[in-house]
Amino acid sequence: MPIARTAIVSAMQEELAAVLALAGDLEVHEHAGRRFHRGELQGEPVVLVLCGIGKVAAATTATLLAERHGADRLVFTGVAGGLGEGVCIGDAVLATELVQHDMDARPLFPRYEVPLTGRSHFPACATLNAELAQATRTVLDRPAHWGDEAIALGVRTPRLHHGLVLSGDRFVSTREESAALRTALPAALAVEMEGAALAQVCHDLGLPFAVLRTISDRADDTAHLDFGRFIQAVAAQASAAIIDTWLKAAPRRRAVLRDGRR
Ligand code: SAH
Repeated sequence: MPIARTAIVSAMQEELAAVLALAGDLEVHEHAGRRFHRGELQGEPVVLVLCGIGKVAAATTATLLAERHGADRLVFTGVAGGLGEGVCIGDAVLATELVQHDMDARPLFPRYEVPLTGRSHFPACATLNAELAQATRTVLDRPAHWGDEAIALGVRTPRLHHGLVLSGDRFVSTREESAALRTALPAALAVEMEGAALAQVCHDLGLPFAVLRTISDRADDTAHLDFGRFIQAVAAQASAAIIDTWLKAAPRRRAVLRDGRR
């Protein structure tokens, strides 16, 4: 059985590259069309991987991380469309809970409920969220991050939000679609394509997880514009810096060192 590791799951190649650049030597394990990078980041055993897009890709990735790579907690980083009022481009969203907005097995089960689980909302780990929130605030407060490119892309003074995140196998890119989601699930802050699937797997396996998203668009008719540029210039840099800052201060590592010295 491999040693317990923190899994960092990146939605985009550029994000993975930014996290990989921070780590030292990593072993690469190729399997199921994915490259799992194992090693250490800030002294913490990690496994880093590109997720792929959509709920099935996320569920497969989460399962493999837990079952083959010793992941005992998972942190997903990626971009998302903002739905909530005041959730702006460049802001960060930490999911407190996640719902599959395209799950609908009515009339057999209530709308959004994952059949046979009795639930529609899958909660993220409060402890991980608290640690990541601290790291996120530290990074967002560093004005040096927000260069001309970020400003040209519409990033102003990014804020951190906590709340409901929706996932579904659809890139939400019309005003009608995002309005419908807002009406159906008014608490939703953001919409993306993977988080709730990862949440369901972690729930089944009893693993703590967190989903951290940078808002790349407002899930409307302009959502596809500048997508790649935004990931490169803003999201990849922000998520790598947050992960690095978080692991640097990781209480888990400090606890181990403290116990080791005793
Ligand atoms: N159309 C884009 C990529 C689509 S995939 C392109 O041209 O490359 C979008 C990825 O970003 C997914 O991983 C998803 O989780 C996230 N995402 C960002 N904004 C989104 C939105 N408005 N709706 C759904 N997913 C979004």
